[in-house]
Amino acid sequence: MTGPKSDRPRVGQVLTITSFANPRIKDIRALDMPKHRKERGVFVAEGLKLVTDALAGGWPIEAFVHGTEVGDQQAVQNAAAKARARGADVLSVSTAILSKMVHRDNPQMVLGVIGQKLAPAADVKPGKGGVWVALESPKDPGNLGTIVRTVDAVGADGVVLVGPSVDPFSTEAVRATMGSLFHVPIARVTEGEFLTLRAAWPGTVVGTHLSGAVDYREADYSKPVLLMMGNEQSGLSQRLAAAADQLVRIPQAGQADSLNLAVATAVTLYEIRRPALRLAPGESA
Ligand code: SAM
Repeated sequence: MTGPKSDRPRVGQVLTITSFANPRIKDIRALDMPKHRKERGVFVAEGLKLVTDALAGGWPIEAFVHGTEVGDQQAVQNAAAKARARGADVLSVSTAILSKMVHRDNPQMVLGVIGQKLAPAADVKPGKGGVWVALESPKDPGNLGTIVRTVDAVGADGVVLVGPSVDPFSTEAVRATMGSLFHVPIARVTEGEFLTLRAAWPGTVVGTHLSGAVDYREADYSKPVLLMMGNEQSGLSQRLAAAADQLVRIPQAGQADSLNLAVATAVTLYEIRRPALRLAPGESA
């Protein structure tokens, strides 16, 4: 028999897990696979900083996992309590188990299973930052994470992924954002949907291109900018390049064919946001 339905939010359980075969552990490890992430609609954030950022940003959290030996650290307890109050289960696991759940090059004693959130296409419109970054089919998770972090740093409005793209919720992409994932809206659209957004954009659409005729420092960024960046291998497609009001180029000396996608995005974003970015009074040398 079930009792009357309570309006109180569910408080998570506290569980100690001692076996690799535990279904929760198997499920979290399987989140390394894109297919499982897609089916479950959650992803793994590794490290106390990322999980704390997710909690601060109000993202849904399904599980808070920590190594048994850090369970009595105050910062871990505070984050665990916050996660539990939001309905997350708190799982205490041994180092042996945890080390199989996190990436080895940067072992962390805390991880969170966080609900995926994407911005709707309707949100891709000028905000306070006056610039959205459109990435055409980016493939490298490190590039995507670095770009999300840079968009956050310069105060741009968000990132729109156009066409088949790397998963922004892969562990590597999440890690490269250094927590900015939880502050920067990310939308995902098809090329057709993007061209509709572009048609409604009330400012300037700027494409970066190796054969762009305009020096990126001389382009007009006075109106809200939709900044289009090309794919790592093939650059900006002809269809998107044709949709630009201006095609800009970053001058290069030396033998390099091009700049890395994340570097080119950062250089251009700093130019677009230059008038808005100042050190606080007294901060400069
Ligand atoms: N082989 C590709 C091509 O032909 O475009 C190189 C792509 S590059 C690694 C990735 C993206 O970064 C480019 O599509 C462009 O958006 C941007 N990019 C890189 N270097 C650039 C430069 N010097 N000027 C303008 N955009 C650049």
